[in-house]
Amino acid sequence: MKTIVIGAGAIGLSAAYYLRKSGVEVTIVDPAPPGSKASSHNAGWVVPSMSTPVPAPGVLPQALRWMLRRDSPLYISPAVNPQFLRFMLTMLRHCTTARFEAGLKVLAELSAETLQLFDEMAADGVRFESHTGPLTMLFKDARKLDAHAAELETMAKLIPGFSWRALDRQDLARELPHVAAGVAGGLQTLGDRSLDPESFTKGLAAACAREDVEFRLGRRASLQQESNASISVVVGGEVLQANRVVVAAGVWTNEVLADINEGVALQAGKGYGYDLPCQPGGPTHPLYLAEAKVAITPLQSKVRFAGTMGFGGIDERINSIRAGGLLSSLPSYFTQWPALPRPPHPWTGLRPMTPDGLPIIGPLPRQPHVLVATGHAMLGVSLAPPTGRLIAEMVTGQLPARHRAALAADRF
Ligand SMILES: Cc1cc2nc3c(=O)[nH]c(=O)nc-3n(C[C@H](O)[C@H](O)[C@H](O)COP(=O)(O)OP(=O)(O)OC[C@H]3O[C@@H](n4cnc5c(N)ncnc54)[C@H](O)[C@@H]3O)c2cc1C
Repeated sequence: MKTIVIGAGAIGLSAAYYLRKSGVEVTIVDPAPPGSKASSHNAGWVVPSMSTPVPAPGVLPQALRWMLRRDSPLYISPAVNPQFLRFMLTMLRHCTTARFEAGLKVLAELSAETLQLFDEMAADGVRFESHTGPLTMLFKDARKLDAHAAELETMAKLIPGFSWRALDRQDLARELPHVAAGVAGGLQTLGDRSLDPESFTKGLAAACAREDVEFRLGRRASLQQESNASISVVVGGEVLQANRVVVAAGVWTNEVLADINEGVALQAGKGYGYDLPCQPGGPTHPLYLAEAKVAITPLQSKVRFAGTMGFGGIDERINSIRAGGLLSSLPSYFTQWPALPRPPHPWTGLRPMTPDGLPIIGPLPRQPHVLVATGHAMLGVSLAPPTGRLIAEMVTGQLPARHRAALAADRF
C-alpha cells in the first residue's frame, strides 16, 4: 500500500508519521521546507480546553463592528467573490448556540486524547520543546469572563484530566504583579500545554525521515486524473502513482483539488505574530489577553505573541498596522512590560478555516482514494496527532464511524 501526502505542515507530517507506523509506504511532497508555513507561525498552544469552533454566537457581528479599525484583532476584507460570500453566509448560519455546542463536542472528542498522543510521539523519539503549566486568560469584560467560564466548565466534563479555576483581582495581583486596573479577572486552565511549533514540525519531519518516509521537497504537487478510478500525483514533471493521496496543503488545498475539479469549503484566516527576546520580568507561562485575542507564549529562546484573524484570501503580505495591534493592546492589560525591541519584525501565518469551525478529515465522495485533511483553523497544532491517526485509520481501512459525518468533505 503506497500513499502520497501533499503538504508537509503539522497535519501532513502527522498523517505521514501515523501512516508509516501503520506499515504504509509514504511519500510527502512540499514546495517549501517542512512546517515552514502556518505550522511554524502560530502560538504553539496544545489546548484541549480551547477546542471550540470559531463561529460562535456574536462573532460575526463583532467582526463587522471591528471592520472600521485598522488594528482590530478580527477583520473581514469586503470581497464580492461568490465563493467567499457563500462561505461567510454558511459561517453566519453556524453562529448559533446549538451549532456551536454541537461543534464543541466534536472538537472536544477529537482533542481528548491529544496530550497522550503527543506524549507517545515524544516517547517514540519525536524531539520537540514542550511546556506544561498553567495558562492564564485575562478579561477586561466581566461578562465575557463569565461566558468563558461556562465554556470551560463544559470542557472539564468532556476532557479527561482538565480543570480550571477563576482568578479574582487579588489572585491576579499575586500571580501577575503588573496587571492593569482595567482587568476584571482571570481564568486559569490546568492540563493544557504549549510547545515550540517549529521544533515540533522539525522533530516530526526527522522522525518520518528515520522511518523511511520519502520527502520530495522544493516542488509543488499537482493531481492528474488518469481514469475514473485512478489519480496520480505530478511532482516536477515526474508522475507518481499511489493507492491513496492525502491532500493536507493547508489554505492551498483547493489549489491542489482544482486539478481534478474538486474543492472544499475553505478560506484563509490570516494571523500575525512577533518573536521577542526573553527578558527579566517577562511572562513565565502562557497568557491570553481575551478581548484583544492575543496569545503570549514564553519559549526557551523567545517570547511569542500571536493573534488576529483576517479573512481576505491567500495573501502572505504583512500589514504592519494590523500586526502592531498585537503589541499595542499590552498597556490595557499590564502597567509594565519589559522594553520591546524597536522595531520588532512581525511574521504571518494563514490558518485553513471552514465555515463550521471543524476540520475536514476524510475521503472525497466522488474520488474516495483522495483524502483531505485540512481546515483546523486555530487548532492545527493541537489536533495534528489525532488527525494523523484518523487519516492512517481511514487509509488502512479501519474507517471509524465516529466523526465521519461531522468531518466529511461534502457536509456543507
Ligand atoms: C497566528 C496564529 C496562531 C495560531 N495558534 C495556534 C495554537 O496556539 N495552537 C494550534 O493548535 N493552532 C494554532 N494555529 C493554527 C495552526 O497554525 C494551523 O491550523 C496549522 O498550522 C495548519 O497546519 P496545516 O498543516 O494544515 O497547514 P500549513 O502549515 O499551512 O501547511 C500546508 C503545507 O502545504 C504546502 N503546500 C501548498 N501547496 C502545495 C502543493 N501544491 N503541493 C505540496 N505542498 C503544498 C505548503 O507549502 C505548506 O507547507 C495558529 C495559527 C496562526 C496563524
